Amino acid sequence: EVKESKNFIEQIIDKDLAEGVYDTVHTRFPPEPNGYLHIGHAKSILLNYGLAQKYNGKFNLRFDDTNPTKEKSEFVESIKADVKWLGADWEDRLFFASNYFDQMYEAAVKLIKKGKAYVSDLSAEQIREYRGSLTEPGKEDPGSVRSVEENLALFEDMKAGKYEDGSKVLRARIDMASPNINMRDPVIYRVAHMSHQNTGDKWCIYPMYDFAHPIEDAIEGVTHSICTLEFEDHRPLYDWVVRELEYPHPPKQIEFAKLYLTNVVTGKRYIKKLVEQGIVDGWDDPRLVSIAALRRRGFTPESIKKFVELCGISKAQSSADYAMLEYCIREDLKTKAPRMMAILDPVKLVIDNYPEGQTEMLPVVNNPENEALGSREVPFGKELYIERDDFMEEPPKKYFRMFPGNEVRLMNAYFVKCTGCVKDENGKVVEVHGTYDPESRGGNSPDGRKVKGTIHWVSAAESVKAQVRLYENIIDEEKGVYNEDGSLNLNPNSLTTLTECRLEPAFAKAQAYDRFQFVRQGFFCVDCKDTKPGKPVFNRIVSLKSSYVL
Ligand code: ATP
Ligand code: MG
Ligand code: MG
Repeated sequence: EVKESKNFIEQIIDKDLAEGVYDTVHTRFPPEPNGYLHIGHAKSILLNYGLAQKYNGKFNLRFDDTNPTKEKSEFVESIKADVKWLGADWEDRLFFASNYFDQMYEAAVKLIKKGKAYVSDLSAEQIREYRGSLTEPGKEDPGSVRSVEENLALFEDMKAGKYEDGSKVLRARIDMASPNINMRDPVIYRVAHMSHQNTGDKWCIYPMYDFAHPIEDAIEGVTHSICTLEFEDHRPLYDWVVRELEYPHPPKQIEFAKLYLTNVVTGKRYIKKLVEQGIVDGWDDPRLVSIAALRRRGFTPESIKKFVELCGISKAQSSADYAMLEYCIREDLKTKAPRMMAILDPVKLVIDNYPEGQTEMLPVVNNPENEALGSREVPFGKELYIERDDFMEEPPKKYFRMFPGNEVRLMNAYFVKCTGCVKDENGKVVEVHGTYDPESRGGNSPDGRKVKGTIHWVSAAESVKAQVRLYENIIDEEKGVYNEDGSLNLNPNSLTTLTECRLEPAFAKAQAYDRFQFVRQGFFCVDCKDTKPGKPVFNRIVSLKSSYVL
């Protein structure tokens, strides 16, 4: 057994607990409800939840809904479903940052009273100008000389709706000469006459993210506020806010590197375009890597957890290969999924010496690597379907499957010797013929003779017709995600729909999200959207083989 080494966040937590900085661990996942969650968010969810679990602490799901834009509420439900599906249980700790608007307003008043915030009349553009740059210090805001009383009155008027959008802001008074531009009197409140999905028209001033977020964490008793690297430069401001507001047990911010996957599309604006252009059938199209898409494709929460663990937690920006995600689902389903027979591109095989009208049931083990999955009976008869490419009239060297004169094993059934085929007027093979050896029932001959090829099959009469979708990367891997003009470099073959597939009858009972191994083909999942009663649709999760090595 390998001893697990602790990641840098766990090391920080251990130290905090040892030094008594905190006596408990409390984390949160704080999505903005403005889109679907993707694989990167899964990393953040599992990291935060995992830490709470590991340290016997608490985990909150908090919607960071302080920015009032229209399309927000519709994403709340999808985010909750995704977090739940990943197994991150927030119990009774579901929060909305907008419920803290009163406390945030009071916090701003407190800063004004301490002389730590002032009302500014500068426009957004002027504020940017006054801020200076890395090489020149900022200029004082003319509003910064205002008295506490004047600031209190102006801020109250801002709240009362006396000012137009953009005409006044509240700024924190920190340091216009700070080498960190975020500390040059950042804006903490702005006027926006917008209706909010939760608070309606109660507010026409809204707090800025850098001010709101530490307050949300502090109110909820969060200890370790984990975010991604782009907020590293904002940490001094986070610390300033919790210090000036004098929280007794201030939370601390810790940054880690975002998870990037190669050759996938995660950008909202690109996905939106793909949806609008009908290239994908929604945010959960199985070729995408939103959590909803991964779930629909057939990934398990366990496979995503494994993937996130393999990626590790670090401060160094890096990207993971999609093949690693595929490795994780293959490993997970290897023993979990029953192995059944499905013919994707069928051609009929007629066993000429098999009795007409007879059907026999052959026992088949569901998963040789997992006894617990039991066994089933598969019907066998005179007319079967096999894969079209398991027969060749004129085979090349090293082709061991069906060709005239060759004997193969029908998996779990009998030896069959190919005798020929029937073709239509265009030369297309419509029927393969053969004879079986009744002595070889179960797939082995008592005389010990060997065959080199084993192929799968289904009984023609009892088979279930199904649609099967094969996927490739939505991006052309060789050339990367973007074209020179910034457009997406799409792979035209990312979706292949097979409509004539024939599956063994046990598939008739398959329900949405059920996962199977189609022997010799890969892992497949019943599509939750397009499956209709008696008309199953399967998505290929992943093929069986890969050149990927861990
Ligand atoms: P996107 O723009 O891709 O939706 P975001 O940062 O705007 O990402 P938020 O809803 O603000 O999304 O993020 C919620 C949480 O998820 C934040 O704590 C954020 O740091 C984290 N997060 C977002 N993207 C990633 C990623 N690629 N890897 C790890 N964590 C991420
Ligand atoms: Mg987001
Ligand atoms: Mg964000």
